Amino acid sequence: MLPFKAMRTIGLFPSDLPDKGFDMVDEDLIPKSLHEKMMAWRRDLHAHPETAFEEHRTSDVVARALQEMGLEVTRGLATTGLVGTLRNGEGPNLGLRADMDALDMQELGNCAHASTYAGKMHGCGHDGHTAMLLGAAQYLSEHKPFRGTIHFIFQPAEENEGGGKYMVQDGLFTRFPCDAVFGLHNGPQMRFGTFSIREGAMLSASDFFEIVVSGDGAHAAHPHTGVDTIVAASSVVGALQGIVSRNMDPLDSLVISVTQIRGGDTWNVLPQETVIRGTCRSFTDKARALAKSRISEVCEGVALASGAHITLNYREGYPATTNAAEPTRYAIRAAQSLVGVDNVDTDCRLRMGSEDFAFMQQACPGAYIILGTARGENDPPVHNPYYDFNDDALSIGAAYWVRLAEQFCPR
Ligand SMILES: [Zn+2]
Ligand SMILES: [Zn+2]
Repeated sequence: MLPFKAMRTIGLFPSDLPDKGFDMVDEDLIPKSLHEKMMAWRRDLHAHPETAFEEHRTSDVVARALQEMGLEVTRGLATTGLVGTLRNGEGPNLGLRADMDALDMQELGNCAHASTYAGKMHGCGHDGHTAMLLGAAQYLSEHKPFRGTIHFIFQPAEENEGGGKYMVQDGLFTRFPCDAVFGLHNGPQMRFGTFSIREGAMLSASDFFEIVVSGDGAHAAHPHTGVDTIVAASSVVGALQGIVSRNMDPLDSLVISVTQIRGGDTWNVLPQETVIRGTCRSFTDKARALAKSRISEVCEGVALASGAHITLNYREGYPATTNAAEPTRYAIRAAQSLVGVDNVDTDCRLRMGSEDFAFMQQACPGAYIILGTARGENDPPVHNPYYDFNDDALSIGAAYWVRLAEQFCPR
């Protein structure tokens, strides 16, 4: 078995669902041959993982598959992003999105389809997301159980680089107007065949800060002749802890974590500069704005008290992934019609992870859902070097997209 030691009790995506089973999708919906085709796509992508804006081979594989299905394919959005368009008469316009990128990490598992690229790995299951959306495109192009237009959106660089934002900037929704857009992520820490979703904020916004504390360096034996940037930086770190505990509404959520402190090179020199870095996570604009303004005020206050010069560079990362009401209802209905009412958590817990699908939701009403894919109690979480997307979930994910298309664009 895997050398991985389970983190079950803290799972990334905890679920409050009762322990009822759902096993496999009806073969009438997703035939075995299509499941096997998705598996082949998924394993090929897994063996050839590509990271942010370098998904050239992946983009080629996806484009070729969509063209073989007879879809119109538009390439070059946000470099390697692409859209496959499937039309069937007049009707609503639906956007279905998958992310295609891998992570800069070394795979440690030894499955037959393990990464062949050193230091790159499909550690978040975007290989599975891509294969499931291709599977849905295959089914929908063959059977056409809908009326309207479906845009299959394959985006680069979900991890860290915000490929979704650049697709929107490249005119994703002006060139391919959508009445709603939908995203899906696998959840290896959630019971297999269940779905989790909620209306409103679901995943947090993630921002990043760098605080540079500078002053006149001095001999450590004569601190009064300089400005000690280590002591000033320590005051900043201490004061930051008060923002969440003393300034935040206890019923709202905010995380401020300092993740790096760098300063000094030796034992007897007070360094000229000490740098602090960290991240903030929030669900509301109010909490996000509070974090930014209070961090700035802490820096100003400590600068005044210590005599150090302190600058703050605050970078807004991904917004909160926020599900719009009507698309969320469609997502819930599609999931429930597939796995049953009991297997869909429609008011799931908020999660402190982030997703750049949030940028698409800012431009178009959208809903994001998580599909449980756990192999058992001991499945490695995403971003773990032993993680591997669970192929058994491919049919469920593809069937979810098919149901959504059928219900959003009824024939
Ligand atoms: Zn990830
Ligand atoms: Zn991911």
